[in-house]
Amino acid sequence: MLKDIAVFAGRLCPSARKHASRLVAGLTALALAITPVPALAQAPTPKGPPLLRDTETEQLLRDYTRPILRVAGLEKQNIQVAIINDPTFNAFVADGHRIFVNYGALLQSETPNQLIGVLAHETGHLAGGHLSKLRTQLAQAQTQMIVAMLLGVGAMVAGASAGPNSGAANIGAAAITAPQEVIRRNLLSYQRQQEENADRAAVKFLNATQQSAKGMYETFQRFTNESLFAARGADPYAQSHPMPAERVSALAELARTSAYWDKKDDPALQMRHEMMRAKVSGFMERADTVYRRYPASNTSLPARYARAIASYLHGDPRSALAQIDGLIQAQPNNPYFYELRGQALLEGGKPAEAIAPLRKAVAMTNGAPLIQILLGQALVASNNKAYTDEAIQILRGALGREGEVPLGFSHLAMAYGQKGNYAEADLASAQAAYLRGDAKTARELAARAKTRFPVGSPGWVKADDIVAAKMPGQK
Ligand SMILES: [Zn+2]
Repeated sequence: MLKDIAVFAGRLCPSARKHASRLVAGLTALALAITPVPALAQAPTPKGPPLLRDTETEQLLRDYTRPILRVAGLEKQNIQVAIINDPTFNAFVADGHRIFVNYGALLQSETPNQLIGVLAHETGHLAGGHLSKLRTQLAQAQTQMIVAMLLGVGAMVAGASAGPNSGAANIGAAAITAPQEVIRRNLLSYQRQQEENADRAAVKFLNATQQSAKGMYETFQRFTNESLFAARGADPYAQSHPMPAERVSALAELARTSAYWDKKDDPALQMRHEMMRAKVSGFMERADTVYRRYPASNTSLPARYARAIASYLHGDPRSALAQIDGLIQAQPNNPYFYELRGQALLEGGKPAEAIAPLRKAVAMTNGAPLIQILLGQALVASNNKAYTDEAIQILRGALGREGEVPLGFSHLAMAYGQKGNYAEADLASAQAAYLRGDAKTARELAARAKTRFPVGSPGWVKADDIVAAKMPGQK
């Protein structure tokens, strides 16, 4: 049995490692077992999973959106910002409680204000209830499923990850009967009137939070100019938010009346923004691109951050660790430097050494679940049985708060395997497969888990849910 788990884990690991070289955990991979097709963006096929996860980046985006959502009266709606693995600029809302933003938009926004403006505009769509029927239906679906649907692949796969008995799987089934183009048109494009309303709402939200609408104007202006040169419809952002010149000039007129038009971003926030962009560049861009953006002559902290990441992903691990230690020396209270150190050690095959910095990062972030999952992974990978119970406890706690991380369930399965608890190990493996969209494996493992749990026990019921879950498209 242990062998079976090891085989299963082994099957997971190569693909995980493939993503790992770019992504795992720093931008923790939410791996769907599909290759994203760039239908959304008509861009080069992105590598790795469709969603990117990273505590530092998500925290910054929360800090950007929170004041806007408050003045929009949406504070209590638990609205999430999800980052899509796509290098082009785009942002959109697909339902009433999620704002999607491509990492390309994070990279290309030079100031917090530019990105906040884009997020304020999306909030305008949310507040205005600009929801198509499909968007309303999607409210129950898991984030991965929506992204996979938009990417035009794995709709069946993704529907499977909607969770047993959630009803969302059925929506996936309904949605995939429509051609991809119809789905995208439904989800991603707005009426011109809705665009103008969202602009006006955004300016209102920015004024109410004493921020300038200049960044939003700058971004829209850029797309108006670019669309003069680009082939019609080539630009995803202008496609999802039609941007005729009159709309942009109306926005400019309105925005300039604001008392905050010339207000600059707080320098500390600008710094966090630049660190975020450096991180996204370091993880997502080719090494030569990173070094071109951040040449050795640039000794700023963001440049050093980007180079340290690129050097751990593509270069010499010893040099990477030395660079990360330099970052820690510069900012000893920055949890994400310890997270990076732990991740570099873990992926460099030194899980036991990764534990201490990851513990520190967890403590400094008050238990950020994505970092806890990384710590759980290090504890499991260290192969020290003294850590097994702790690993299980940490992983279960983290997955209770961040349920859409398949790799977390895989590590949990390995931890249970180390304990000889094969029922829980099978169940966790089934959950991992389910979240990756591998319905067949999920059902097989869940069926086996059922034979190991007492009938009717909580584990048996969970396994039974997975066995019984209707996969979209399934007769
Ligand atoms: Zn819009």
